[in-house]
Amino acid sequence: NDVPLDYPISPSEEDWSNLYPAYFRPLTATEPSKRPLSPSSSAAADTLPKRGPAASTASDDSLSAQVEFADIGCGYGGLLVALAPLYPNTLMVGMEIRTKLVDYLQQRIEALRGFQHDLLKTPSPEWVDVRSKLSQEIAALDHPAPSTQDEDLHDNGETARLVPGHYDNIAAMRINCQKYLPNFFKKGQLSKIFILFADPHFKRRKHKARIISSTMLAEYAYVLRPGGIVYMITDVKDLYDWSVSHLDAFPLFERIDDETLKSDPAIPCVVNSTEEGKKVARNKGSKYLACYRRIEDPADI
Ligand code: SAM
Repeated sequence: NDVPLDYPISPSEEDWSNLYPAYFRPLTATEPSKRPLSPSSSAAADTLPKRGPAASTASDDSLSAQVEFADIGCGYGGLLVALAPLYPNTLMVGMEIRTKLVDYLQQRIEALRGFQHDLLKTPSPEWVDVRSKLSQEIAALDHPAPSTQDEDLHDNGETARLVPGHYDNIAAMRINCQKYLPNFFKKGQLSKIFILFADPHFKRRKHKARIISSTMLAEYAYVLRPGGIVYMITDVKDLYDWSVSHLDAFPLFERIDDETLKSDPAIPCVVNSTEEGKKVARNKGSKYLACYRRIEDPADI
């Protein structure tokens, strides 16, 4: 994890076409600011999202596509795969520090995109090859490899379902989320941040590595728009208590009550669709969920 990571100087310097080729043309020297694909430039242009208020107030008004959901410490990407067909017009990024996991997820997404174009209902031999090669590589890691069952490709009611015509809207990025998050996202750009089954870092001297801390909450509040939501779930009660105490104390977040959460379509994915969440369920562990809404900053009114 000490390998240096590349960061853009500012969000407009990031070439999002690498992650979402169906949505962005590459940055070029003569075209310094990124542009979304024009409607005539690609068959995928039909899927270009209609943007909400954040885009119209953004400093670069030419941007009509932008990432809105970020999965912090996304691991194998089960959340993104589940959310992609649920929010087909929303760009989402998984942010993960571990190279092997990012490589895995990028190939998983490429395979899903290939699948969508083939419109096949059975796993292609190429996809089975990708899965088996990556499973072997990932076996060397200390995080559990995903189930050998090809969950993306089997609708068993619990796991992600393959929906033809989707998955161009999800991508994986290698990043240490504790550094330079605002280099990737403008103020108020995101509408959802997911922090699911984060590493607990039990020892006191390791608490600074926790993904929820006062410093990190200030960054999440910056990149989240008012009304945006932080979703946090863990199986570790100590981490839950820590996270809730920090979020409760942070002036720009208010807790969302359980009744309201019942009607949020993202919640079943948050609880059930990540690889870590599935492992906790298999082991019959408890899951502790807390979601917070970003409130308006009085200084911005
Ligand atoms: N959210 C996924 C899930 O529920 O299956 C993965 C959970 S796993 C326990 C925590 C993940 O967070 C690991 O993949 C780890 O590499 C990643 N992670 C930890 N610290 C990070 C950081 N500073 N930046 C990015 N990713 C990080």
